[in-house]
Amino acid sequence: MPRQPFVNWAKNQRSVPIARHTPADEAAIVALVREVRERGESLRVVGAGHSWSDAALTDRHLVSLDRHAGIVAVDRERLRVTVKAGTRLFDLVAALHAHGLALENLGSIAEQSVAGAISTGTHGTGLTHGVLATQVVAMRLVTGTGEVRALSDDDGDVSLELLDAARVSLGCLGVISELTLRVREAFDLEERAWSLPFEEAARTVVALAREHAHLKAWWLPHTGRVQIFAANPTSAPRAGASALSRRADQLINQTVFPAILGLGRLLPSAVPALNRLVGRSYFGERRKVDRSDRIFNVAMPPRHLEMEYGLPLDAVPEVLRDLERMITRRRLRVNFVQELRFVAADACHLSPAFGRESCQLGAYMATSRDSDAYFTGFEAMALAALGRPHWGKLFFADGATLAPRYPRWERFCALSRELDPDSVFTSAFTRRIMG
Ligand SMILES: Cc1cc2nc3c(=O)[nH]c(=O)nc-3n(C[C@H](O)[C@H](O)[C@H](O)COP(=O)(O)OP(=O)(O)OC[C@H]3O[C@@H](n4cnc5c(N)ncnc54)[C@H](O)[C@@H]3O)c2cc1C
Repeated sequence: MPRQPFVNWAKNQRSVPIARHTPADEAAIVALVREVRERGESLRVVGAGHSWSDAALTDRHLVSLDRHAGIVAVDRERLRVTVKAGTRLFDLVAALHAHGLALENLGSIAEQSVAGAISTGTHGTGLTHGVLATQVVAMRLVTGTGEVRALSDDDGDVSLELLDAARVSLGCLGVISELTLRVREAFDLEERAWSLPFEEAARTVVALAREHAHLKAWWLPHTGRVQIFAANPTSAPRAGASALSRRADQLINQTVFPAILGLGRLLPSAVPALNRLVGRSYFGERRKVDRSDRIFNVAMPPRHLEMEYGLPLDAVPEVLRDLERMITRRRLRVNFVQELRFVAADACHLSPAFGRESCQLGAYMATSRDSDAYFTGFEAMALAALGRPHWGKLFFADGATLAPRYPRWERFCALSRELDPDSVFTSAFTRRIMG
């Protein structure tokens, strides 16, 4: 029988594993890891396949935890939820909602698996909120020897250090089997949006991020405008966010934006005019009040590519200006919004926000004549500003460039050798970044 290829959501990553496995419980994960190790083979776990990077790719054994999914327990008193690792975020959000609970923060979509999302440092926005992985208070991890480690932040230093490493671990320390997350009472958010001229946004966006619980900014190149979205908890009546308007947003993203992107691909010189058209129709003052998860999430975007770097906050204005100058000087046609989000400092060894508050600056582009040149130029600027890549998005830098940016890099590699002495969890991706 021909082997079945694995292709990610964006269709920019593809591999042909020698075998695929779908264990349905922790005992089956343990047995699989032991068997793969005994044969001197390797495996990678895939979540929902929503990374742009090759983090989940392998040509050896590919393991999906789609059958190891579901809510294990909801502890209303301690505000904690335990899930099997393959659970999709949208199922977790729905289950929490049914209990009158919610996640503290969330990214733009909820299609990811919980383990896959935390493993790459997935984040929402808000300078008082860390990456999603910082909401993890306990985890069960199947190591490269098939041992099950129960890690908890209640258990003192040893377990805590390992938990910090495992929170953002790219599948390198083991297969996460179960996760316990901190949650909160369900809450509503009021989102206000307005547009600013580019230079004013570059100058003030970090200060604005300090004023609001959740702030993001969308800069649409060639328009000179940046749309700011500021969301804060509220008890005001819900407004401006009916089921109909959500459906309309989905339809626009499935039909209108792909058509505009297609037109720009055929006629690259039209991209600036098309962006101005989109900016005129979309940017401006808006207000809505809704459930927190519906404000955090946006309608699924059309297929496109993303690179993203976490930057120190003081670098933001100059990196934005440099990027704008590069687009103009090299006459690049950038057909998508560029996004700025904000994340609190954390203690996870490989997190882009390790030890520093960060602006996650996302360079987004649907494949086009200029996408390679744009991503290469963006990455050079982000690296020069001491940026650290989002592990789930495109990045071309290797371990030699990246290692010095993470104070606990060596410690992470030592833990990886200790927990996975026979390199069961290696792939071309892990070799590129860890050697
Ligand atoms: C449309 C879209 C919107 C997005 N929005 C955001 C956003 O708002 N914010 C943000 O930060 N990112 C965002 N991302 C990126 C996305 O959140 C990450 O790439 C995330 O890691 C994908 O989760 P996944 O379940 O698909 O994992 P995969 O991509 O399948 O895997 C990611 C990594 O996790 C590892 N892994 C998966 N499961 C396990 C496990 N059980 N044990 C150990 N390792 C495991 C894999 O080996 C791999 O290294 C977005 C992606 C898309 C496509």
